[in-house]
Amino acid sequence: MNCEILAVGTELLLGNTVNTNATRLSELLAGLGINVFWHSVVGDNPARLRDAAALARSRADLIITTGGLGPTYDDLTKNVLADVFGKELVFHEDEAEGIRCWFAKSGRACTENNLQQAYLPEGCTVFHNDWGTAPGCAFEAEGVHVILLPGPPRECLPMFRHCAVPYLRALTEETLVSRQIRVFGMGESAVETYFREEMEHMANPTLATYAKEGEVMLRVTAKAATEAEAAAMCEPVVEKVKNTLGDIVYGVDVDSLESLCLMLLREKHQTFAAAESLTGGLIGARFTALPGASEVFRGGAVTYCDEVKAAMLHIDPALIAAHGAVSHETAAAMAQGVRDAAGADIGVSATGLAGPDGDGVHPVGTVFVGLAASDGVWVRHLTLGNARSRDIIRAISANNAYDMIRRYLTGLPVADNDSRPQGQ
Ligand code: ATP
Repeated sequence: MNCEILAVGTELLLGNTVNTNATRLSELLAGLGINVFWHSVVGDNPARLRDAAALARSRADLIITTGGLGPTYDDLTKNVLADVFGKELVFHEDEAEGIRCWFAKSGRACTENNLQQAYLPEGCTVFHNDWGTAPGCAFEAEGVHVILLPGPPRECLPMFRHCAVPYLRALTEETLVSRQIRVFGMGESAVETYFREEMEHMANPTLATYAKEGEVMLRVTAKAATEAEAAAMCEPVVEKVKNTLGDIVYGVDVDSLESLCLMLLREKHQTFAAAESLTGGLIGARFTALPGASEVFRGGAVTYCDEVKAAMLHIDPALIAAHGAVSHETAAAMAQGVRDAAGADIGVSATGLAGPDGDGVHPVGTVFVGLAASDGVWVRHLTLGNARSRDIIRAISANNAYDMIRRYLTGLPVADNDSRPQGQ
């Protein structure tokens, strides 16, 4: 099945809103084995939307639209798509009642135009919107499946997962299973060289690599009559990737390095704290975005300038003066300092140069990431170069802090200077 994602909204063309729906939906569709061949964006203009829908109909088996399902005059996706596919709009009293209840619950008056949202193309499968007011829907016409989803990502994405995925699964006799292998510590092109030849010849299951922010993901996907069969087909490929890449594989079907750390810290009844310079709170922010973080995260300190590093983390100013803020020694002292100050089992730290300016001593991209625990202090020296953006350097630094935590907790060497016995 070849899909086109058609995002509707003038705000997307003006650059006020980033078309995140298209990227997220593409990722989710790839997980279902559906090829996304086109992303289109069109403003709130009926004639241009009609042309875009007609073009999509001529080339795709599946069209997914996002946006333009609301109650205002510029929300015209449903009307135009229904018209292009020769469908009448039919009033759904149960959806209208749902919209009235939604307004009653939020203490607002439901104006008449809101009930426009209860008109949907005849014969469609209605996707009730539990996250907002505009229902979505799916219908088939002329051999093309059309799915209409609302624009706000907080409505569009859960509706895709809860309503569109079951609809799409029901279209095929086969079940698709995907496994996601997460890798930290090697770039995408290097990872790919291990598997390139094999990947080219694989049809079912398939293996593909994706570069994520500062890390790599490999996706294994198999199609079979049953879920169990498809899962069993994925297994040898997952094992082969794990065996080939070794301990840089940090997890299979885990969401992120930080969510893995949360799981490990809980399992081992350990807590951590973070002292952050160039990451400016990113380590703590990413971690506290996870539900349950409070069980294991004691806190953190953003210690940007030398005086604050010394005062808040009880570091001897002479140490910073002697070695510099961007140094192995300062990173070690920051990790120890925050561990003591927060009363945590593990302290991590990050200090370095995210650019664009260097400090006249180190090149941009020089970062020291530290980890202090009861049995030692370890520091990684990263040389990330000046070709990467400030954001990426900061993200990779945070990833390294999490990677050090996961390696420490699983008995793997944390940094080059780690001589602890392995596998504890
Ligand atoms: P609503 O009735 O809630 O407005 P809608 O389906 O009519 O829903 P739009 O009016 O098109 O949706 O968009 C509402 C908001 O959703 C936009 O202002 C924008 O913030 C966000 N949005 C719309 N499309 C996208 C998209 N493709 N990617 C990310 N955000 C989007």
